[in-house]
Formats: sequence, C-alpha cells, structure tokens
Amino acid sequence: MPPPVGITFLGGLGEIGRNCACLEIDGEILLLDCGLMFPDADMLGIDLVLPDFTYLRENAERIVGCVVTHGHEDHVGGLSFLLRELSFPIYGSKLTLGLASNRIGEAGLLDRCELIPVADGERRRIGPFDCEFIPVTHSVPHGFATAFHTPQGTILHSGDFKLDLTPVDGRLTDLARIGSLASDGGIRLLLSDSTNADEAGHSDSERSVGRVLYDLFHANEGRRVVVTCFASHIHRIQQIADAAAAFDRKVATIGLSMKKNVALARDMGVLRIPDHRLVDIGDVGKLDPGDLCVVSTGSQGEPMSALALMAASESRWLKIGPDDTVILSSHPIPGNESNVGKVIDGLVRLGAEVVYSMAGIHATGHAKQEELKALLSLCGPEWFVPVHGEYRHLDAHARLATAMGTSPEKVLICEDGDRLLLTDDGLSRDGTVAAGYLYVDGIVGDVGKGVLRDRQVLAREGVVVVIVTVDVTSGEIITGPEIITRGWVYAPEADGLLDEAAERVREAVREAFAHDAADIESLQRHVRRAVGQFVDESTRRRPMIVPVVMEA
Ligand SMILES: [Zn+2]
Ligand SMILES: [Zn+2]
Repeated sequence: MPPPVGITFLGGLGEIGRNCACLEIDGEILLLDCGLMFPDADMLGIDLVLPDFTYLRENAERIVGCVVTHGHEDHVGGLSFLLRELSFPIYGSKLTLGLASNRIGEAGLLDRCELIPVADGERRRIGPFDCEFIPVTHSVPHGFATAFHTPQGTILHSGDFKLDLTPVDGRLTDLARIGSLASDGGIRLLLSDSTNADEAGHSDSERSVGRVLYDLFHANEGRRVVVTCFASHIHRIQQIADAAAAFDRKVATIGLSMKKNVALARDMGVLRIPDHRLVDIGDVGKLDPGDLCVVSTGSQGEPMSALALMAASESRWLKIGPDDTVILSSHPIPGNESNVGKVIDGLVRLGAEVVYSMAGIHATGHAKQEELKALLSLCGPEWFVPVHGEYRHLDAHARLATAMGTSPEKVLICEDGDRLLLTDDGLSRDGTVAAGYLYVDGIVGDVGKGVLRDRQVLAREGVVVVIVTVDVTSGEIITGPEIITRGWVYAPEADGLLDEAAERVREAVREAFAHDAADIESLQRHVRRAVGQFVDESTRRRPMIVPVVMEA
C-alpha cells in the first residue's frame, strides 16, 4: 500500500498572515512557506507574530527543506526567526529568494540555509517530495502554485494567486499545466487561497491600474507626483515608472525597502527602469516639480515609513506642499485604516492634493469568486481544503467548492494546528499540534499571553503600587504605606485620594494581624484587596494593583 501523506497547518488558516504548513511522507517533513503576521492594535508593543515553531523544533532532524511560494512577508518573514534554531535549504523562484534573503541576511543567518532557485515549470525532488513549480499571477512577481506528486496522488497548493489574463510581465498563471494535471491522473487534493472568497466577481488586471496612473500623471503635469505602494509590488512600481517615463519625469525612490527591492528587481531583470530615468532622492531638489516622480513606502500608514514622515514634515528628503500630488496606489489592510487616515490628514493639512481610494488605483492580488470557481472547475479535485484566510473566508471558499460540485464531505475546513492524513481511504483529520501565536517584541519571541494581558491592563487602566514595611511580630507599620501610581489618577493633583488609599492600607494591615495573618503573602493579599476595593469605590476604575509588603 502506498504510504500516507500528512499535512499539518501551523498558520494562515484563521488569519491573514504567518502562513506555514508541513507535508510529511515516510517520516520526512517539507515546509511550505514560513511567514509572519503584523500585530493587531491590541497586541501592545508587539512587533510581529510568528507561527508556533514547537512542532518543527521537536522534529528538526526530519525537515528536508522549505518551499517558499512567493516573496511576501506573510510567507517568508518567519524564516529569519526559525533559522536561528534550525537549518535547512530553501527552494523558490530567484526573486522570491532575493526578497526572503533581505531579512535572513539582516539577521546574519544566510549561512544557515542554502537558497536553491527553481524555474517556472521545473519539477524537482526534495527528499521524498516530488515538487513541480507552476507559475501564478499575484501582487509580487514570480509566485508559484506547487504541485506535489505524492504516493497518494497529486496535491495542488495554489499559493497566493489571481487569474490575471493581462499581467504586466506577460507571465500568466499556467492554467494549461494545471488542466493537464487534472486530466492526467486527477488532482487528489486542492489547497487554495481564500483571501477574497467572499468577494463576488473577478479581480481587476494589474494592467488596468497602469491606465489609471497614466491618466493621473496626465492630469498632474507640472506638479510633483509622489506615489506610494507596497515595496514588493514590483509590477506596480513598473507601471508607476512607465507613467513617469511617458511624461518624461525622473524617478526617485524613498524608503529603505523600496530602494532595496527596486535594486534587486532591476538586477534580476524583473523591473525595467533605465539608469538615466533614475535619480537619487538626495538630488531631487535640483529638479523642477513637474520633472519628478517619487516612489515611496508607507502605503499602509506605517508610523516610521517615508510617507508618514513626509506627512509629519519630518522627512529628510521631501517637503510636501501645495505643489505636490500624492497618490496612494494601495488599499489599507484591515486594521491599518486609522494609520492611513492620519497620514492622509497630515498630507492634506500641508496643502497637498491626495488621491486615495479612487476607483482603479489599486487591484487586489488575490482571486475573487469567479476566479476561484474557475480554478475549482479546472482542477475538479477529489478533496478540497481552503487555506489562506480568516474563518469566514475559508467558509465562503468551502461553499464555493460544494456549489461547484465537490461533495460536502470531501470539503474540510481546517484551522491552525490541524493535522490531516491522506491515505488510500481518503483525507481524514489526524489530531492537532501546538499552533498558538508566538509574539515577538524586539528580537525574541518570549512575550506570552500573560505579558500581553498585563500590558493591556496597564495601557487601559494604569497601575497602583503600594509599598509598606511591617514588623511581622508586632504588626506595626515601620515605613509607608507609600502609594505610587501611573495611569490611575494624576498623583500631583490627587493627594486626597492617595492619603485615603494609604489609610485603607493601614486598616488592612491591622485587620490582617487581628486575624493572625502575619505572613508576607497573606498581608499582600489583604493590601491588594483593600486598595482594589477603595480604587473601585472612589473611581470605578480597575488598575493593576501591585502590593509590595516588606518585612522590617
Ligand atoms: Zn499571503
Ligand atoms: Zn501574497
């Protein structure tokens, strides 16, 4: 009997971000993507969120490599953390590896992974895994769907994709190859991108954005134009540069990641901007406003980004004013709306013309319902598991699959941590592994749920620290009580409250001794309860209370 194939989801099913899965055959593991997620506003002080690596750590010697589908951070951004502990080769397109190696290089970990480029359509064996890399269109060039030819039949993973029939670089999603996989042996299991599964219709072609940009450049002749988009969106940058060239403007980049990615993509021939078209951001002062186009980072309103600095008049390079038109060629990712709004406000306040949320100024990189249905129809998979999305996206995608004729019992909605087993008998659930959020603050991922809860209380309610020294034999207070607070009341203006709180602490200590509670721990408990009650009665607030009772 052919061996079973295991699939374990470590991230990306139930959230947009930190995509990571494992395939297992004959005891060996192939990683499929290793991404990060950007934190929500309530994850205070958290820089980013990773998959839980416990399962990978425990099975380190079984990992034969990692396939990366494309260069977005939600697919490659976790590698620079995982490679601190483990070492394995990474397979992907040349551009994907170039983008991934930015962070890996910054972390000084390039010697811990061999980067192995694979070409469009290439088929390659990695341990027991027979992988085929199929071109797809997406909002970063050179992405792949991956077909795994396994002892249990073909497993097709769509990667992030859309069906752009007029892509900027002419590199189409290879539907013909997917069709031949389906007709030649069939697709046993399809795993497909669900990001836009609740959006009706068909995504716009990236090329349509180029026409809108051209019109905007036309309408803004004589004015300086600043355009912002994702730094990895090489095709968007190409179209901005093309529009600039059409009106004979020079192009300057601003923002470190924009500069790096433009250089990388030009080196690889993925981005075509001639040398004479480019100008250094330090030299833009010499140009007339109408002769310049600046391509900037910061399309998501990231507080320290080039665009945010411009909006706050803190940019070293550009002073924004009434002669500027700023175009946001992007759409805020849910959660970033208020940051983007603040940046737009800043730019408008400086007198700039700001173009945002205009029809056609951005096109999504993810397939909408009609495209998802087209892929489902082409594949006609025996089994289907929606991936890459929040729960409602996965559910919407599952409905599409059943509407397209996959029988409902062969559509499995999975979540992070779920394990599946594909055998001769079909696809079944096979338990779960740890897949919680790994919160990273600084460079270490040791911020647990407890730390985060403390930060939330501190941020919302503040802290009250009570320091008192007690003679544990007599019950006499030797020093204090001293009450220190941040965020409960403003201490210099709240003497009365602080005095009353101190009085409650004295009472609590007296009472504790009256009940023979003379050890430090129970004294602390009494003090915490008394102060907590007083704070609640007097202000209806619930700050963190930290009692520090010391023995004289
Ligand atoms: Zn993604
Ligand atoms: Zn992507």
